[in-house]
Amino acid sequence: MYISEKAPAKINLTLDVLYKRNDGYHELEMVMTTIDLADRIDLHPLPDDVILLESSSGLVPQDERNLAYLAAKMLKEKLGIKKGVSIYISKQIPVAGGLAGGSSDAAATLRGLNKLWGLGLSLKELAKIGAEIGSDVPFCVYSNTAIARGRGEILTPLPPPPPCWIVLAKPVHGVSTADVFRQIRVNEIKLRPSTEKMVEAIKQGDYDAMTKLLVNVIEPITMKMHPEVKKIKEKMIQFGADGVLMSGSGPTVFGLVRNESRVPRIVNSLRGFCQQVFAVRMLGILDQGLTK
Ligand code: ATP
Repeated sequence: MYISEKAPAKINLTLDVLYKRNDGYHELEMVMTTIDLADRIDLHPLPDDVILLESSSGLVPQDERNLAYLAAKMLKEKLGIKKGVSIYISKQIPVAGGLAGGSSDAAATLRGLNKLWGLGLSLKELAKIGAEIGSDVPFCVYSNTAIARGRGEILTPLPPPPPCWIVLAKPVHGVSTADVFRQIRVNEIKLRPSTEKMVEAIKQGDYDAMTKLLVNVIEPITMKMHPEVKKIKEKMIQFGADGVLMSGSGPTVFGLVRNESRVPRIVNSLRGFCQQVFAVRMLGILDQGLTK
């Protein structure tokens, strides 16, 4: 028996930094949703009590520094499991792009091992373990649509957003989330998103409102370091995207597009200067059963 688990990327429809906490972390408020751009995690049992990890991408660590490895190690330690597993990550999600690729790999490993080893843990229990790996891992365990607060680990589920196409483009250089967060000055933030209005737009299935409410307070910071972000945004709008935003700490930019016939034009306009360009659908929710 082996398990193949989908690890989808997330995008931020909003990202607000409320204040810097006494523990040094920033208090966040974000609306996040899941898209159909995914890594695949294959899990095979091994006869010996070891964890082996390989990936199709040379850009991610292939040892215990990989978040998927960490997830398997943590699950084994917490539950005293003396079983081995080989983890293969087929990478599609751009690395260090603000799409939570590593966190989603860790979350999919937790879900997959829960099945492979017949642990019977709930998603809530997996999310709790995931929170010790990284702030985005609990969201990725559910892989749905949610408001994320705290460091990103406190979740309020939402219905899936109105369906549309998502065009994504990642500039060549990735971004270190830690570097970007170090540059945030909360009192200098000019434009903040309205979480409340975005939630209402999603609940009402109001696509037009959703496209107008896309705001990420980190975007101006990353844009300063990576001017391509601005260029990509302009191109996407010029070629017909309904709304555009940088995801997470970037530098990946996404555009929401309702009219399918516009998608190839937008994609082609970006291919000239971006290597990684994708057109995918919203998932909004990974699997109905998973949210229970
Ligand atoms: P975050 O905002 O959480 O940093 P991100 O989407 O911007 O996420 P990731 O693709 O998760 O970025 O990668 C961030 C770093 O994490 C990479 O530079 C890489 O070295 C490390 N990493 C560890 N495991 C993985 C993994 N399975 N996939 C991708 N990166 C991983």
